[in-house]
Amino acid sequence: MERVIVAGGGMAGLRTAEALRAHGYEGRVMLLAAEDRPPYDRPPLSKEILLGKRDDSALAAPPPDVELLLGRAATGLAPGVVRTDAGDLGCDAVVIATGAEPIRLPGDGPQHVLRTIGDALRLRAELRPGRRVAVVGAGWIGAEVATAAARAGCAVTVVEAGNAPLAVAVGEDVGRRTEGWYAEAGVTLRTGAAVAAVRDGGLELADGGTVPAEVVVSGIGVRPAVGWLAGSGLELGDGVHVDAYLRAAEGVYAVGDCAAFVSRRYGRRLRIEHWDTAVNAPEVVAANLTGGGPDGPEAYDPVPYVWSEQFGRMLQYAGRHDPASVPLWRGDPADGSWSAFWLTGERLAAMLTVDRPRDLVQARRLMRRGARVDPARLADPELPVKAAEEG
Ligand SMILES: Cc1cc2nc3c(=O)[nH]c(=O)nc-3n(C[C@H](O)[C@H](O)[C@H](O)COP(=O)(O)OP(=O)(O)OC[C@H]3O[C@@H](n4cnc5c(N)ncnc54)[C@H](O)[C@@H]3O)c2cc1C
Repeated sequence: MERVIVAGGGMAGLRTAEALRAHGYEGRVMLLAAEDRPPYDRPPLSKEILLGKRDDSALAAPPPDVELLLGRAATGLAPGVVRTDAGDLGCDAVVIATGAEPIRLPGDGPQHVLRTIGDALRLRAELRPGRRVAVVGAGWIGAEVATAAARAGCAVTVVEAGNAPLAVAVGEDVGRRTEGWYAEAGVTLRTGAAVAAVRDGGLELADGGTVPAEVVVSGIGVRPAVGWLAGSGLELGDGVHVDAYLRAAEGVYAVGDCAAFVSRRYGRRLRIEHWDTAVNAPEVVAANLTGGGPDGPEAYDPVPYVWSEQFGRMLQYAGRHDPASVPLWRGDPADGSWSAFWLTGERLAAMLTVDRPRDLVQARRLMRRGARVDPARLADPELPVKAAEEG
């Protein structure tokens, strides 16, 4: 292999370039970045930049022998060729790391989304005391935006179509336990309210009501940025379909938010839109591009993990569970910190912790190993989570 092209200059693209070098690959590496700035980190956009704690979240520069092409978008893929907005580039292998794009609400009124550093700086400039801010979506991002807007002194309303915050991610029972945080921060939370359109002056709701606002922020999710791969022959669904080794076709891999991989652990295809995957999956791609491990190609098979900082609390979720399944509680929400677990039979399927990072670390280990656990010990906040392991 003389030339590898990595399409996408986010965390997953940068980590792929770094990992290729770390695995001893000596050919050319070209990193195509549609944005005109070097790779930066996204979690700080909503946690620090929006709060005015910093203005930038640049990542360490790629190794000097990686060719970083800023402002250069991949526009198509054919065997051995990546088409770009400035001409075709030949290559021996391609890694697709084009991430995801925010979904926008219908309507002709102005709306903000939060995906790029430009988005964060533009929104921050709008968060001024007394302004009415409507945040659509009470998911991970919506809750973080509401936190920042409330701290900036705005009059914040969060409008959520589901019956509780975070319901899509963790289910209604657990999501409801976070409702009080909104009121505590002076934020109005309206659940069960679907937005029909964004208009000048605020939101139009499906039931005919309105939410007046000077600033509208849409936090309703993202779609994988794979439109440029239409006609490439790759299998595209909710992302680029790759196998357990993150391979889409001979010499073509995909990684990060845009990749839907086959998880052996969960027996299904997964697309994970979390930082941990963007950081760690590239290692597997680099290993496989450079010959695999001692036992052949390496599979990527994580226990998914995400964290969020909202209303002064640290939330951490690991695993996968059916949002309709009943949680097992640990700790009293009145004390501030608590955890919720979901079990499949005798094994831990997933957990959410609020300000109990040690619970997360220990539970994640149990999940990775598929250990059997005792629910009664798991529910006892005085015992370490690891003490719940059976035999
Ligand atoms: C505000 C915010 C807060 C977040 N907070 C958390 C958190 O607390 N915890 C957590 O686990 N995750 C969090 N995430 C998610 C996490 O940041 C993503 O999972 C991660 O950024 C995915 O990295 P990626 O490289 O796959 O994709 P991206 O970060 O989307 O990077 C893809 C890059 O490819 C570029 N690109 C797109 N199309 C092309 C093309 N055709 N040609 C060339 N380049 C292209 C894009 O411009 C982009 O720079 C957050 C995300 C956001 C937006």
